[in-house]
Amino acid sequence: MVRNHKPKLAVWKFASCDGCQLSLLDCEDELLTLVDEIEIANFAEASRVILKGPYDLSLVEGSITTPHDEERIHRVRRASKHLVTIGACATSGGIQALRNFKDVNEFISLVYASPKYIETLNKSTPISDHVYVDFELHGCPINKLQLVEVISAFLHGRKPNTPSHSVCIECKLRGTTCVMVAQGTPCLGPVTHAGCGAICPSYARGCYGCFGPKETPNTVALSARWSKLGAKEDEIMRTFRGFNAYAEAFRKESEAHEK
Ligand code: SF4
Ligand code: SF4
Repeated sequence: MVRNHKPKLAVWKFASCDGCQLSLLDCEDELLTLVDEIEIANFAEASRVILKGPYDLSLVEGSITTPHDEERIHRVRRASKHLVTIGACATSGGIQALRNFKDVNEFISLVYASPKYIETLNKSTPISDHVYVDFELHGCPINKLQLVEVISAFLHGRKPNTPSHSVCIECKLRGTTCVMVAQGTPCLGPVTHAGCGAICPSYARGCYGCFGPKETPNTVALSARWSKLGAKEDEIMRTFRGFNAYAEAFRKESEAHEK
């Protein structure tokens, strides 16, 4: 592709821990190749130099939790030709969406000495609840190689090639013994997007669902299997309430087991 100028990249932060932005810095070798192809125009975590938009590609980390966020994300969208959300916070509301199941005012009065200074929304919500999103990259944090693939796909005008299968396939590929079959440990792997390389089962632990629900996840069948393995209703509810608790499939399944 012949270009007169390098495409401009912007990285934005909303409610998040910065871990997904760090995945971009963690690219190290790949980053040098990337900056040959793309101009990092707005990345406050990495540089004080902020170039004005519009931007060709925006990566958005974090969820919407305040009235200011709610208004700012529309400005980000208007300044961005393409917008990709990165991580569980941006794609499902993140771990901070656990508040969505309770009254946020109770937490505010418990946590803050002067609650009157806190301006917050009742819920932590994903970016796609507020503006159009071109692509969602899952994970907590995201996989840096998948991030490079998404940026590369954008540069070449094609769809990113990220797997749609579950973590179970990754277990099979690395030859990991299934913790559900061998130990009876509840594992979210069968309903979770691949991307982590099945790290937890390789340490004989169940998957925590960091990469969120895969397409058409059969959460009902998985819960039924956990029940047969002896899991109690509140254990099943809590297992679905992790980093992606507010992703629709996990939210519905956890609510079905809430007393
Ligand atoms: S998805 Fe996880 S790693 Fe990424 S910003 Fe949110 S909490 Fe941090
Ligand atoms: S350990 Fe979990 S992710 Fe791995 S094969 Fe078993 S159920 Fe699937």
